[in-house]
Amino acid sequence: MTTLHIRGACPHDCPDTCALLVTVQDGVATTVRGDPDHPPTSGVLCTKVARYTERTYHPERLLYPMQRVGPKGSGQFARISWDEALSTIATRLGNIAAVNPQAILPYSYAGTMGLLQGDSMSAHFFHRLGASLLDRTICASAGGAGYRYTIGARIGTDLEQIDHSKLIIIWGSNPVASTLHFWMRAQEAKRRGATLIAIDPYRSLTAEKCHQHIALLPGTDAALALGMMHVLIAEDWIDHEYIDLYTHGFADLKQRAMEWPPERVAQVCGITREQVVDLARLYGEMAKDGEPVTIRVNYGIQRVRGGGMAVRNIACLPALVGAWRHPAGGVQFSSSDTFPRNFRALQRPDLIAPGNPPRTINMTTIGDDLLREASAEFGPKIEALVVYNSNPVAIAPDSPKVAAGFAREDLFTVVLEHFQTDTADYADILLPATTQLEHLDVHWAYGHNWMMANNPAIAALGESKPNTEFFRLLAQRMGFAEPCFLETDEQMAEYAFDTNHIRAVHFDWQSLKRKGYEKLNSPAAPFAEGGFPTPSGKCEFYCERMLQDGLDPLPTYIPPYESVASNPELAARYPLAMISPPVRNFLNSTFVNVASLRQVETEPHLELHPDDAQMRGIAAEDWVRVFNDRGSFVLRARVTDKVRPGLVVGLSIWWKKMTSDGKNANEVTSARLTDMGRAPTFYDCLVQVERC
Ligand code: SF4
Repeated sequence: MTTLHIRGACPHDCPDTCALLVTVQDGVATTVRGDPDHPPTSGVLCTKVARYTERTYHPERLLYPMQRVGPKGSGQFARISWDEALSTIATRLGNIAAVNPQAILPYSYAGTMGLLQGDSMSAHFFHRLGASLLDRTICASAGGAGYRYTIGARIGTDLEQIDHSKLIIIWGSNPVASTLHFWMRAQEAKRRGATLIAIDPYRSLTAEKCHQHIALLPGTDAALALGMMHVLIAEDWIDHEYIDLYTHGFADLKQRAMEWPPERVAQVCGITREQVVDLARLYGEMAKDGEPVTIRVNYGIQRVRGGGMAVRNIACLPALVGAWRHPAGGVQFSSSDTFPRNFRALQRPDLIAPGNPPRTINMTTIGDDLLREASAEFGPKIEALVVYNSNPVAIAPDSPKVAAGFAREDLFTVVLEHFQTDTADYADILLPATTQLEHLDVHWAYGHNWMMANNPAIAALGESKPNTEFFRLLAQRMGFAEPCFLETDEQMAEYAFDTNHIRAVHFDWQSLKRKGYEKLNSPAAPFAEGGFPTPSGKCEFYCERMLQDGLDPLPTYIPPYESVASNPELAARYPLAMISPPVRNFLNSTFVNVASLRQVETEPHLELHPDDAQMRGIAAEDWVRVFNDRGSFVLRARVTDKVRPGLVVGLSIWWKKMTSDGKNANEVTSARLTDMGRAPTFYDCLVQVERC
């Protein structure tokens, strides 16, 4: 028996990007473990990826190309050869492109975070074809915009410093479920005496384990941050020296913050005045005493109308109290911009024909856009869709429109997948993709500062192919003769990171591949002495670029589209605010079909407060219907005080085909966009609930 241990990286849309050790016996992967020597991973994987072999060898893995043989959406397919699949796709796309290539749209997101299998050869292909561009906004572009306006780039507190913090505010995030390795560090900090505070409308698994939980109304986080600024400034719990040297616009900020006394904030956020003052006092006093105070902010607070501004306001707080001075102080939002990803080489935007840039379609509004006719404003009707690394029929907002769009008989849809997902059911051609154990990749992370390599551990199952190989073959079928379409994955990996970049300690692909991981040259306290990558070089309390972009240049509060306070007319019909954060054992819509994980989650549940349940005659485990003007879905009731009155929580994201009525929470979510970043407003959603 031959036993091998292969070094890999977790590909999933999770900040932690764990280092994997895959044991392979006689060509079969038997276990996937976390590497104990990789500091962020510390030998621990989440329950999902610890079962990666169950997913890889799942009996329902797609193994062969298939062609639709039933009505759209019926999921009826017949096996075809790769040759037939490539010929059909090349002919159909070629015919459309001959008239207007912008009628073709790629649709992809973070089904893998790998730089190669994510978007490399695929981007070469669509750029050369002249297809519409995709605005990839579905997750963090609102917060990313707010953070960049303020800090300059998505750089923050290093994960490996978190255990030294003395106060950790976990704001709009549930790391127990979605950032396990941050949570492990926060737990260590707690053992060393740190105070943990959760700010979340919902008493999540994380909030339950913190010392304090502030359950504010959804979409009001920006107001709470303004209230903290007010108290910090009024009580002089601020770092004058840091403000003078390293921030821009303090006088304007002070004036704005004075408009937000704790009484007003308490009323907007649905909490008490004391909660606002005590939070600011703890944060300000500890920082003043030189203790490291840090904030983990993400992702929930972004999914409302004012999501970008909320992240911006929170990103101002550490500069106000000088928290950046300490390596374990500051904000952990994302480490994405620490990585010198070489997009120019990986994605080849220069292949776009000069002088005629294609239009851009926002992935958040895919439902509306698939249903649009051609017009001067919109351009050509979308006639072909190539979906990879995403499951839009399950995950995109306003799902009734998304499903109606995918059901169009005149739409040619190609889907690259591991399984027959809700989206795959609508494919005309369904292609088998390799999993992380079967292909090569290079990884960055958004929760730590390590470059990572993924080596293939086993041969591709069935006839599955890496995404890169599919697009390479398709480019050849379509006659694209540029040398870049002949590059191998190994060759692309060589230039995945920019070796001239200041932060790449040293990028040598062959060495990274062998070692598995290497830390970037990132300072422990990135903004201890300013050096913010903004135009002013300072943390921008006042931001000129925001003014130029038509936004308020100062921190402010933008109320939700849908709330009792902002839209009483709508709230009269739909009085409950719904949020749909991820369940612990799924990752967005990945892993829903892994039986051992689904058994833990059992079935979709709606959590609602006992008062709201009683008012509607709803008891635990009753079937309930959640509805608004956009749609409805049915699930079981869980009556609990984990949710505040007026809030309901539908943990997600279930495959529609695995629910009782073939629908999920996105039946009722909205495709309206955030204040900045053009992102979705999943948690800005009023509903009514009834027993059924
Ligand atoms: S999903 Fe996250 S926590 Fe789980 S193995 Fe992957 S990177 Fe690690």
